[in-house]
Amino acid sequence: MIRESEEENVLFNEGGKYTANYVKSVFDSSDSESSELRNRSISLVSAVIEGEETPRFKVSTEFFFVTLHVLKAIGDRILTFRVINLMRDRIAHASISGNLEDIEEYARRMGLRIKYDPIDLSLSIGFVDFVRYCSRVSGYQYRLVSQVMRNGEVILEKEIAAHIIREFFVSRATEVYDSIDADEAMKALSNYADFIGNARSEFAILRAKSKIDLGNVDSTKFPPCVSEYIRQIREGTNLPHLARFTMVSFLHKIGMDNPGIMDIFRSAPDFNEKVTAYQVNHITGEISGTQYSPPKCAVLQSNHLCYKENDPLCAQEWLSHPLRYYMIKKKPKNQSSG
Ligand code: SF4
Repeated sequence: MIRESEEENVLFNEGGKYTANYVKSVFDSSDSESSELRNRSISLVSAVIEGEETPRFKVSTEFFFVTLHVLKAIGDRILTFRVINLMRDRIAHASISGNLEDIEEYARRMGLRIKYDPIDLSLSIGFVDFVRYCSRVSGYQYRLVSQVMRNGEVILEKEIAAHIIREFFVSRATEVYDSIDADEAMKALSNYADFIGNARSEFAILRAKSKIDLGNVDSTKFPPCVSEYIRQIREGTNLPHLARFTMVSFLHKIGMDNPGIMDIFRSAPDFNEKVTAYQVNHITGEISGTQYSPPKCAVLQSNHLCYKENDPLCAQEWLSHPLRYYMIKKKPKNQSSG
C-alpha cells in the first residue's frame, strides 16, 4: 500500500529537475500525464482566484514546482500565499498521518532533520531548527523555555512536529518562489498567456478592493512592530496569532472602528470573513464585553514579534508598551516624553 507520506510530499532537493524548461514541456505537451498535471495546477489556482471550493489535489513534487511557476507568471503575492497555505495544510496533515517513525522519514524527504528514537519512542529536532521554525507560531507551548531538551535536541510532541513541518514548508516554498525567474515562468506558460492575463486583472480588482484606509488614525506614528504586521499582511504573509491580537487591540485602542480593522485583514492569504469578524469583535469587546489591550513590549519580544531594529524611541529602556510609543509620537513636539 502506498502511504500518504509517499505520494504527498515535496522533495525540495530535487528542484533542479523541475526548472522552467520542465514546466514548459508540461504546458506544451499533449500526453495525458502532462495534461493532467497542468489541469490540476490550473484548477487549483483558478478556484482560489474565484474564491470557490478548492478541488481535490495532492501536493507531489511535480505539482508543487509546476504550480509555483504558474504563480510566478501571475506574480501576485497574495494569491501565491493563499495557494501555498493550502498546500502547507495538506503537507502538515500528510506528515503526521502515519506512525511516529514515519514522521522522521517524511521530514527527511523534504530536507528537514527530525529524529525518531526507537528506544523511548520520541521525536526530536536540533534547537536551532526548533527556534527557526517555531518563531512564527504563537503560544507559550512553542517557546524554547517550555521544551524538554536532551543532548542539545528538543523533544517534540506530534502536534509540534506538524507545526514545524508546516513552517518549514512555507519557508522553503517562499525561497523557491523567490528564486523562480518571472520571465522564464512567463515563457514556460506562453500557451496559457490568456489565463495568466485574466488572473492578473482579477487580482488587480481584488487589490483595489482591499486597499487599506486607516481612517483618522495616524499610521506614521505607529510603532515599528505594528507597522511591520500591517506590511506583512499587505504582502500576503500570514501573521502569527499574537501579532494579529496585538494589531487588532492596538488599532481599537487608538480609535479605529471594527470595519476598518476588518479591511486590513482582507488581503491576508487565509482571510475568512466569519472567523476574522468573530476574532475582531471578541478582542474589541463587542462579543466578550472585555476590550483587550495589546501586550507589553517584553511579551512581543519574547515571542519574536518586536521589530524595533534601530528605532530610537524603542531603544529607550522605559518604552515598555506599543501604545505608549503611539501616544508619545502623537504628542506635540514641545511636550516632554519621559
Ligand atoms: S520595542 Fe515595543 S513598541 Fe518598539 S517595536 Fe518592539 S514591541 Fe514594538
